[in-house]
Amino acid sequence: MNAQAVEQGQLQLPIGDPGQRWITMLDSRLESYYSKERKVSPCYQVRASSIGYPSCQIYQMIKNWKFKRPFSRNTLERFSDGNWHERAVITLLEDAGFNALHRQLDGEVKFRNKTVATAHLDTVLQERSTKDQILAEIKSMKGTQFDKMNSLGDMLASPWYAQYYDQIQAYLEAFNKHLPFKDGALLILKNKSDSCLKYFYIAKDKGRILELKHKAADIHQALEMPEPKQEEWLAARRVNNLETCEKCDYFVPCKPNVEPLPLELNIEGEESLAELLRERAKVLAAGQEFARIDRRVKDALKKHPFKRALIGDFVVEKTEGFRKGFTVPDGNRVEITIKAIGEVSE
Ligand code: SF4
Repeated sequence: MNAQAVEQGQLQLPIGDPGQRWITMLDSRLESYYSKERKVSPCYQVRASSIGYPSCQIYQMIKNWKFKRPFSRNTLERFSDGNWHERAVITLLEDAGFNALHRQLDGEVKFRNKTVATAHLDTVLQERSTKDQILAEIKSMKGTQFDKMNSLGDMLASPWYAQYYDQIQAYLEAFNKHLPFKDGALLILKNKSDSCLKYFYIAKDKGRILELKHKAADIHQALEMPEPKQEEWLAARRVNNLETCEKCDYFVPCKPNVEPLPLELNIEGEESLAELLRERAKVLAAGQEFARIDRRVKDALKKHPFKRALIGDFVVEKTEGFRKGFTVPDGNRVEITIKAIGEVSE
């Protein structure tokens, strides 16, 4: 490295041919790794991890089978990140004197002698000196969500996070024979921003387990039906409740039997706005890809001490300074969400 250039605030980073080759290779290796992870074909099993969410009986069926799409790279990156957070917590607990037993064990929820859901265990923690054991499920989340989760009540109040409660109930059932202690389990939350942990003890809830078994059995038998029968099944279970359905990602493909969403404004005729929305949809994917690459470049550059750098064909400048904290004054907030007709989120 040229010390004088560094002193003058100019740094030639080694991104010439070998650097570029490495970057291209890393990116294409990861792309092919993630392509293998992208399961296009639906997997015809009810998953104990998401059986509880949401209360609508057919949501899982629609999400996982009827309108299943391959995951985007960004979603797979998030899954992979979640796995790494889980491994980090396990390593920490092992260093702190616990054994992590039955890692990634597969299990089944049975109802009337039939497997109705499959489960995949994080671990059973064993305290090394007493040999006490307890089932443990590890979840990582953004700092803003983590800060809101301070009691079991906070979790159950959120339809999304209440599924962790149901997941643990289903796991207590699926892994019953591997558990010396069967009365409850630990949910361990990890803050992705600062690595802090929170722990919740969740007691076994036999009533909820029975409800979940009925739900899983119902979906399971629908999966074995021929297509026309499945349509009848779906029609019979649509909640058809505007308050629930209008928040659902699957409103358009599911077609619940509710009055059309009340639209207060119809600007079909305003061509420029419709055209802009079409243009916006076209560049959306490119914008997301830009944001992903931009973040990687800037994260990499933040690690280097420089003011001005020549990197390949680009001059990059870095300014650093102190940002004073401030509170945003109260005021009206306007948010606009745009969804294409028929668009389904992952
Ligand atoms: S639109 Fe309504 S009925 Fe259809 S999956 Fe969503 S919540 Fe269930």
